Amino acid sequence: MEFMPEFRTARPTTVAEAVAIRAAEPGSRFLAGGTDLIPNIRRGIVAPPTVIDLAGIAEMRAIESLDGGLRIGAAVTLAELANHERVRTAYVGLKQAAGGIAASTHRQVGTVGGNLCLDTRCVFYNQSEWWRGANQHCLKTTGEICHVAPKSKGVCFATFSGDLAPAFLVLDGEVDIAGPEGRRTLPLDDLYIGYARQDGSTGDGRNYLGLQPDEIVTAVRARRAPGLRSAYDKIRIRRSIEYPVAGVAVALGRDSDRLTDLRIAFTGTNPRPVLLTGTAELCGGGLDESTLTALDDLVRDQVMAMKTTFTPGHYRRRVANALARRLVHKLFEE
Ligand code: SF4
Repeated sequence: MEFMPEFRTARPTTVAEAVAIRAAEPGSRFLAGGTDLIPNIRRGIVAPPTVIDLAGIAEMRAIESLDGGLRIGAAVTLAELANHERVRTAYVGLKQAAGGIAASTHRQVGTVGGNLCLDTRCVFYNQSEWWRGANQHCLKTTGEICHVAPKSKGVCFATFSGDLAPAFLVLDGEVDIAGPEGRRTLPLDDLYIGYARQDGSTGDGRNYLGLQPDEIVTAVRARRAPGLRSAYDKIRIRRSIEYPVAGVAVALGRDSDRLTDLRIAFTGTNPRPVLLTGTAELCGGGLDESTLTALDDLVRDQVMAMKTTFTPGHYRRRVANALARRLVHKLFEE
């Protein structure tokens, strides 16, 4: 890890002020908990002349109950989310996702918005300046090829690894966004554009968020229909601090012996979190082996793990599949 370079810190107290500073200072970056940004600054991956500290913006620090849901400010810490009484009792998947991120000390400062917008990761990217330089860098910074897929035609496959995104995606997550043009609300699924198509029609591991220049995520919303059960689980190489090899969130509805609702989302596999499509077709009957085999097919078709970590891509896909099966079964039997 290199020394910390010089930068200026701005401390706005309103969202409008934060957006104005961002627009006025090219290359500036929003700072929430800093658990990812600060290591990236020290590694020379980014070099913002100004960081805009969001901790003093009151509207981004609140958790509010809505009719049938929650609105959570982007600067709420992971520990505050995991320990919030309504989250602990009614949003079990959210609690499990937030409460399992990194280590306790990280969760005291890491934020909801920071985890939702977490930079994508790759074994060729999250390295020191000299390491990356010795390997001729790569597409995600200043290099010319992708070392994971040298024939990628300009596409980066760096992996999205945030734990909260899948947990919110299965709860009809939406994000509130503010920018120079005003405010808007977006389905959370549309925030992530890292489809990594080689025709260049969408984003990838470099360009993974659907935010306009100078926009900021101010809050995230979740909705939970009565009776919907949710859970989150992941596998890590070590059982603390590490990013997930794969993580899975499931929300499930059951009426008597019938599966009535099923949503499944993954992290740690693709350049975006993946909300599995086609799960509605698995509902209507019981949860038998044919349903789980159909689930396997959906995972195989939509989870695209590349070798961006020390674990092989096909292993991460198998882990994701096994976790999904296990969680679906567990929630159905609860
Ligand atoms: Fe670089 Fe390729 Fe890794 Fe993207 S996937 S960070 S371009 S090596």
